[in-house]
Amino acid sequence: MLTGMQIAVLGGDARQLEIIRKLTELDAKISLIGFEQLDHAFTGALKEKIDEVDFETVDGIILPVPGTNLEGEIETIFSNERIVLTEEILQSTPSHCKIYSGITNKYLDEITSSANRQLIQLFERDDVAIFNSIPTVEGTIMMAIQHTDFTIHGSNLIVLGLGRVGMSVARSFHHLGARVKVGARKSEHLARITEMGLKPFHLDDFEKEVGDCDMCINTIPAQVVNAGVIARMPAHTLIIDLASKQGGTDFRYAEKRGVKALLAPGLPGIVAPKSAGQILANVLSQLLLQDLSSRKE
Ligand code: NAP
Repeated sequence: MLTGMQIAVLGGDARQLEIIRKLTELDAKISLIGFEQLDHAFTGALKEKIDEVDFETVDGIILPVPGTNLEGEIETIFSNERIVLTEEILQSTPSHCKIYSGITNKYLDEITSSANRQLIQLFERDDVAIFNSIPTVEGTIMMAIQHTDFTIHGSNLIVLGLGRVGMSVARSFHHLGARVKVGARKSEHLARITEMGLKPFHLDDFEKEVGDCDMCINTIPAQVVNAGVIARMPAHTLIIDLASKQGGTDFRYAEKRGVKALLAPGLPGIVAPKSAGQILANVLSQLLLQDLSSRKE
């Protein structure tokens, strides 16, 4: 149980509700900042404005998946209030207070390091990334169906990258009957692709592989689907780019060429916010329980 723990939840989307539900069930005390318009009430959770919170008693700060923007602002769908996380706020917390975020940026890195507080990026964890690949795949299948006039079954599909998302995407589309080729650069990835019963190719040969491609799903956060590649794709190819940081596709050239290319960020939060929230809630509750027990030792 998290009895005696004081947690501040700052902003977010529907995923945060699962986190709040789980942590209140575990008896943590929660300050909800940026939730004024939330109808639902949770026992043990109090809606507060950021300047009303006594951060000196806060054991953990939970940020939404994107963390803050580069000015420290935190997005919330439950309030119109502007919420800003500052170094001063972090400095006013006890030294054991940890900051939990999905991802980070320069601003968040800087204020947590200047305030000497530990920042935990949940999306860096393999367990979170692998669980999260499940709703990501479902969202990708949804987009593939919505944006094509042919079945996935029997289509020629290219997946780029064999990381945590790429592997789940490649396997799922293979099970749906697509002819899946996977592009990677490491020999162990090429070996694994073969072991999975799929066709591997080295990314250096990407241009040679796209002549019959019906759909290309990118998971590599680097410019891999470049103009040279797009120029060799059939005009009907659908590109779905899942990679962060603006994806890995030359969208300008794709549009010029008339190839449909879609950037699809944040699919878990869109297609399955409840499940995506439960993934985060489970991991966060484990981390907070470990934190509490290590402080009691
Ligand atoms: P990951 O496990 O780190 O996999 C990334 C893959 O990209 C690896 O196969 C890696 O290969 C390859 N790669 C990285 N940089 C490369 C480069 N410069 N050239 C060639 N290959 C490169 O990451 P992940 O968890 O699968 O996530 C993949 C991307 O999807 C991330 O950008 C993530 O933020 C994003 N994502 C999006 C959604 C969504 O809803 N759209 C959901 C979850 C994740 P090496 O091992 O050879 O580096």
